[in-house]
Amino acid sequence: MLYRELGKTKEKVSILGFGAMRLPTKKSNADIDIEETERMLKYGIENGINIIDTAYPYHSDKLGGHGNSEAVIGNFLKENSYRDDILLSTKSPSWLMEKPSDFEYYFEQQLKDLQTDYIDIYLLHSLTETDWPKVYDLNVLDFLDDCLSSGRVKHVGFSSHTEIDYVIEIIDEYPKWEVCLTQMNYLDEYYQSGVMGLDYFKELNIGSMIMEPLRGGRLIQNIPPTVEKLWNKAEVKRTPLQWAFQYLYNRDDVHCVLSGMTSLEQVKENVEIASEIDVISEQDQELIREVAREYRTYIGNKCTRCGYCMPCPHGVDIINCFTEYNIAHMMNDPKASAMQYFSLIDDDSRADSCIRCMECEFICPQMINIPDELDKVYEYFGSEFDHF
Ligand code: SF4
Ligand code: SF4
Repeated sequence: MLYRELGKTKEKVSILGFGAMRLPTKKSNADIDIEETERMLKYGIENGINIIDTAYPYHSDKLGGHGNSEAVIGNFLKENSYRDDILLSTKSPSWLMEKPSDFEYYFEQQLKDLQTDYIDIYLLHSLTETDWPKVYDLNVLDFLDDCLSSGRVKHVGFSSHTEIDYVIEIIDEYPKWEVCLTQMNYLDEYYQSGVMGLDYFKELNIGSMIMEPLRGGRLIQNIPPTVEKLWNKAEVKRTPLQWAFQYLYNRDDVHCVLSGMTSLEQVKENVEIASEIDVISEQDQELIREVAREYRTYIGNKCTRCGYCMPCPHGVDIINCFTEYNIAHMMNDPKASAMQYFSLIDDDSRADSCIRCMECEFICPQMINIPDELDKVYEYFGSEFDHF
């Protein structure tokens, strides 16, 4: 297993982290297959993984609700006496906070579920342009100060799916951030905070943890034949899984890649890939860029996110509706970004909020018929999150 220093935390962290959001399940997303999960965790830890990342809502049957992942992880760590060997990372459900005492309320529940009295890395979960000002006004920074000074949390950070400017704004607000969890893979260099975010973390020595290294598994499933053809051109043959991980491991601004694993087989494969850097040549980097360009030809519409159509007078978040639709379309699977479509875009800003007033009719430089395309987005994702 390769290890890296997690920025200013100085923690030695395995380059592959165990993400506990896609554990194997039985009848529903909340019904975790505990025996298989324990086999996977054991194998991972015995083979060098030293960080587990979970969160309050992981493995809930209700989007954003209280999930079972933390309790399963807590029980496993306790029963196997692994707690002190593991960096435990979890997240505060920012969207549920309504008053200052809520931070403490949810934190206590999390400690109880995780059967521990301290968290190594505590992240504010998925800060959006709505949630960050809200939690800031509820004095979240006082709460984090208290967690740090009392030793109940060793390192604080946040996760976010927002654009770079906003990530920088959050970082600049609090000098005690030590870790950022951000989405990154070879398709997303310029999506959300992307490579610019990684640059900024490096400049400030903030530990970088990566989510969605396989885009929810889509970089290795349902691969379009034209993409497969490109991979076959490579001089050094790698599986799509190896390409995706080694692309990240070859970057020195990536400290830990979280992978949400679902089977023991996946843990074994991922551990093996994380055992050494398979150096990606300049020629291979060019091939990766070619593959990314090829994937983009499968997107649903030509929206460039220029923003000329915004704001919609009726509150439709046109840009993000199209972005999530295009990503899912490109990966040929609504699951690829359904979670983000329903969690990052407010109920009254999704595609079905368009009332076809036609005020955006001639605005789009890409000649997109916005209301018609929004209809397609609605058809694609539906009106409720049921994509587990
Ligand atoms: S104007 Fe067109 S290209 Fe620009 S953000 Fe709106 S839909 Fe996308
Ligand atoms: S047609 Fe739909 S998206 Fe366009 S301005 Fe009207 S409500 Fe907004």
